[in-house]
Amino acid sequence: MTTLYSLSEDQLALRQAARRFAQNEMFPLSMEIERERREVPIDFLKKMGSLGFLGLDVPTEYGGQGFDTLTCAVIMEELSGGWFSGSSFAMALGMGPVLAGGTEKQKQEYLPRICKGEIIPAFALTEPTGGSDAAAIKTFARKDGGDYVLKGNKIFITNAHRADILVVFAKTNNEAVRGQGISAFLVPKGTKGFSIGQKFRALAHHANPICEVVFDDCRIPAANLIGQEGKGFSYVHATFAKFRAVYGSRCVGVAQAAMDYALRYANEREQFGQTIASYQGNRFKIADVMTKIEAARHLSYRASAIVDQGVDSDNARVAASMAKHFGSNVCMEATSEAIQIMGGHGYIADHPLERLYREAKLFQIGDGTSEVLRLLISRYTNKCATSGEPARLP
Ligand SMILES: Cc1cc2nc3c(=O)[nH]c(=O)nc-3n(C[C@H](O)[C@H](O)[C@H](O)COP(=O)(O)OP(=O)(O)OC[C@H]3O[C@@H](n4cnc5c(N)ncnc54)[C@H](O)[C@@H]3O)c2cc1C
Repeated sequence: MTTLYSLSEDQLALRQAARRFAQNEMFPLSMEIERERREVPIDFLKKMGSLGFLGLDVPTEYGGQGFDTLTCAVIMEELSGGWFSGSSFAMALGMGPVLAGGTEKQKQEYLPRICKGEIIPAFALTEPTGGSDAAAIKTFARKDGGDYVLKGNKIFITNAHRADILVVFAKTNNEAVRGQGISAFLVPKGTKGFSIGQKFRALAHHANPICEVVFDDCRIPAANLIGQEGKGFSYVHATFAKFRAVYGSRCVGVAQAAMDYALRYANEREQFGQTIASYQGNRFKIADVMTKIEAARHLSYRASAIVDQGVDSDNARVAASMAKHFGSNVCMEATSEAIQIMGGHGYIADHPLERLYREAKLFQIGDGTSEVLRLLISRYTNKCATSGEPARLP
């Protein structure tokens, strides 16, 4: 098994196309939307769909692009650097459980329309009592004849208030061993007993707001169960490795965008009769951050290549965790140092850097906190050590 990667001519061409779209279309719109505190417009999603920038990971038979994870990582890096909130729609990651375990009917019903930007999905796992310990969720789905009846609350669910379809996780068996007895369901907008609770004002990502979702005896047909009852978590795990490998490259895109501003500025701005880029203090800082960005880029590409060889393996989980953990830290550092290099000009709210800095914090929290990822990585290294295996990826 080889896990080295190289980018093909096609992947390099896709990178260029994504970069052009990010710079010419996404970035200008992001400035307008974020300033006005509006949400990612549906017309923009339709445009993304028509240009082939939606459903990157969705098989072509369901209207997607059918790209492997490495290709997705390359494209997502560019799109995320243009506008993170807009790029969040490019992969149908929230629909991962449907791809992993859904019926043909479920896939055909939603995926083609998501890939055209016509409808919006949401992914509802986190609850008020916790996100990291996802196996401890309390929302319960009771079987009642040909239906399931959902009761419970979810919080911080991105775009739930305007989602047409939600993938919802609920316990179906309280007696099952930890991590089992959890099932995944499709809950369409407008289902009786489903409502939106508190809307949260977040530090950033205002174009993709988060809110609470309430299921108060919400009745859905048993046909809305995704895959097998009690297997919901296995479909999430299949999604997480892909999620996190690509997330690493999304962090790289934001970090690179931040440093691009700082680099341009540092080579123009003069203090004490010289450009600030000529001072060794700034040169070393820039060299260090750019080295880390490059390292994070390769880590996420390699993790993506490993995921492409089998999503359900220790290697995939660990490589993806490393990619997101390292990428998010590098992004935090890069956005902070970029502002430092630009001084007061980088701190001004109208400058994109200020937003990138705020956005970066989420990357250490969402889709697996840095601490949870480190637990996953160290579980693997401990396992290797106790079994006498070398603790390194192939
Ligand atoms: C902007 C935004 C968008 C989001 N979108 C979604 C969404 O669409 N769908 C969804 O389901 N969720 C979403 N979330 C929720 C997100 O996934 C959770 O916030 C995240 O998983 C952390 O869960 P928590 O907030 O409950 O923190 P907790 O799990 O309570 O953790 C709090 C702190 O304790 C640490 N910690 C926890 N356990 C351990 C441990 N064993 N060892 C060491 N440290 C530990 C954590 O790393 C963290 O630092 C979103 C959150 C935000 C902020």
